[in-house]
Amino acid sequence: MCTTFLASQIINKLKDNGIELLDHPRLIRLNPFARFKTRGNGGVSFKIKNDDKADLARRIVLEEVEKLSMFDCDNTNPGVIFYEGEITSQMEEYAFRAIYEFITIDEAENFGKSIGCEIHKFKKGRGIIGSIAAISLPLSDYTYELLAYRSSENYGTKRQIDYDSVYEMDEQTFPDTFENIDYGENYIAIEPKTPCPVLYGIRSNTVDALKKAQGIVKVSEPIVDWCIFKTNQHTDMHIQKADKISDMKQFGCYEVIGEVKNKPKIIDGGHMFFFIEDDSGEIECGAYEPTKSFRNVVSDLCPGDVIRVFGGIGEQNTFNIEKFQVISLNDVEYKNPICECGKRMTSAGKNKGFKCKRCGKKLDSDKKVPIIITRNLKNSQFYETPVSARRHLAKPLCRM
Ligand code: ZN
Repeated sequence: MCTTFLASQIINKLKDNGIELLDHPRLIRLNPFARFKTRGNGGVSFKIKNDDKADLARRIVLEEVEKLSMFDCDNTNPGVIFYEGEITSQMEEYAFRAIYEFITIDEAENFGKSIGCEIHKFKKGRGIIGSIAAISLPLSDYTYELLAYRSSENYGTKRQIDYDSVYEMDEQTFPDTFENIDYGENYIAIEPKTPCPVLYGIRSNTVDALKKAQGIVKVSEPIVDWCIFKTNQHTDMHIQKADKISDMKQFGCYEVIGEVKNKPKIIDGGHMFFFIEDDSGEIECGAYEPTKSFRNVVSDLCPGDVIRVFGGIGEQNTFNIEKFQVISLNDVEYKNPICECGKRMTSAGKNKGFKCKRCGKKLDSDKKVPIIITRNLKNSQFYETPVSARRHLAKPLCRM
């Protein structure tokens, strides 16, 4: 079961019992490369007053998790954490580790015990890893997501969303809301592609813009519930600044500056690869097929270009690009000289100069000649993957 929907059901129950949340519930995304993650690899948390109703709240949370979780699914290993008190710097460190690296269930449990959490594991209880992080993560930057939920009899059926109204909503609320539509692919990004309870999700910098957007989007199926989450989505919180390429580790996400080593090449399946290098080493960068038109942008990179790359190092040890910024463009290319007859000469062999295949003229010097090339990329500009291929945590350029 979708964790956000479960949370939203719990919150309703709490409200019915006169228990109000102290802020929006939080939806916290963790390391996108975690191995046993659920789809979105997220955790949900919320805060209530610790008064005489706290015990009732505890009971409601546990009952609902028990009732609504789909325990048959191998990947469903929920965890619930209750924590009373201040968020310590130790807890904040834990949360960042859950985003930057991996935390095991045992580690999470030991840490939870050490800070006095009440821990409830269901099946393997993997959810406690993200629960502690969702409670602990400081949100120096955040966005909101409004999630609207479908009636259960409609799960798995085509969502009845009026696409024209989504275009209208985007027109009226972007950039306060964002990632509504992928215009390049003509793709409605507020609509999930999985058979989950979510009808749509709208992302925004403000709650007001979400409410306005919600009023514009038309659907022709029932919305049983909706909820606005405060989240670390679209903040680049997963990205660590690496001073040099050799500092980056597998399954981490980084920002690093490097020089393009070779012309990007496309392989079978439509994936595009090239290397960047610095004094410390080199790494292969990848723009995968789902990034569609982004590969056209990447293909314009030339050896000698210096770029700042944002992305993560995946299973194949390739640095998957989320976005990049041009630091400096190499606009000089060295080519063989042109012969007096107008034909570009070819090499006559190593250290043997050039020869013309058409008229036979030879040149002793083997110095290539510089040619100024015009570039489509622009200095200091950022380029990002399209909405349809973007990670939850990736900060879109409209937020930078
Ligand atoms: Zn010639």
